Amino acid sequence: MFKWVKRQLDKIGSPTLDWVQVEVTTYCNGSCIYCPRTLMRDRWINRDMPIELFYEFIPFLRYTDLVYLQGWGEPLLNDNFFEMVRICKDQGKRVGFTTNGMLLTEDTIRTLVDLQLDIIGVSLAGITARTHNQIRKGSDFNKVISRLELLRKIKAEKKTQAPAVHLAYLMLRSNFHELKEILPLAKKVGAKQVVASNLTLIIDPKLSAEAIFNDTEHVDYYHSTLEEVRHRAAREKIVFDYHGPGLDNASFCCRENVRHACVINVEGEVVPCVFTNPVLSSRYTFKDQSLLLRGMSFGNIQNESLTRIWNKKEYAGFRALFDPETARKPEQIRSEMPQCCVKCYKRLGA
Ligand code: SF4
Ligand code: SF4
Repeated sequence: MFKWVKRQLDKIGSPTLDWVQVEVTTYCNGSCIYCPRTLMRDRWINRDMPIELFYEFIPFLRYTDLVYLQGWGEPLLNDNFFEMVRICKDQGKRVGFTTNGMLLTEDTIRTLVDLQLDIIGVSLAGITARTHNQIRKGSDFNKVISRLELLRKIKAEKKTQAPAVHLAYLMLRSNFHELKEILPLAKKVGAKQVVASNLTLIIDPKLSAEAIFNDTEHVDYYHSTLEEVRHRAAREKIVFDYHGPGLDNASFCCRENVRHACVINVEGEVVPCVFTNPVLSSRYTFKDQSLLLRGMSFGNIQNESLTRIWNKKEYAGFRALFDPETARKPEQIRSEMPQCCVKCYKRLGA
């Protein structure tokens, strides 16, 4: 009875979110050279989200239409991954995740198609094996592409469009030239969307030079190339979304949609974005400064409902810092922001 009353009260003031991102594991079979997991390997804690904790999340599925099962790790390594997808699909939700592609066996692909998964994102850092495999250590470009071709074949065989394939391309100075050739690859694997993103969390200062926004001399070149790819993509009916090569110091928008989405980490902590996930505890580099990355949790779904957490004064106040309608001056808003947001390339538009 008490639980029933609590559930009814929770419905009052529950948010409507564009998506909820759930970190199902922090294990990974890859060692990408830029990834915090790789660079923090001596102190990284590997863990799976237990299925019991995922069950705690079920009442909050009504807050959103899209659940993205993704955090700092390879989702397919969680033994309960298919069950998690099934639970969300049974509740009528759209479900997606991003993978490094190495565990996409034929059986796994068939299960994902049968579960009617909606989106599968696949991470790339080049369109040749030489480039991609050097950056995404532990990944094999040719194998990943052959698995995507198999997915395309199985979808055709089962006469379904789902899951939609999205290619997630990490742009670096050393692989940017290959991005120009992404569209034939996208067509080959039947990808409907390509997202080109920046190296926004720099744990190893030696990688600063790899971030294209730090290559200020060539901003025009990056910008015109990206625009050209976008135009070509539109002709091919492929969505090409890219993160710009420039930094806007005056910006107080965050690309992570923190006002209308949230992340639930592997332990149930509710955090605004993956960068503020408490599993990351490290130093990072921002404009040649070495800074401490601090976790930021507004509550844990094991102890409180997502409604209660979302409506907390401190969480609402945090989201207000990113409200474009705010009457306060940008300098004032920035002075109120936590340091991790003030000094974050995601906020600067990168
Ligand atoms: S596959 Fe993803 S989680 Fe794994 S090391 Fe690479 S970037 Fe990190
Ligand atoms: S500005 Fe950066 S740290 Fe702050 S919420 Fe956005 S992505 Fe996270």
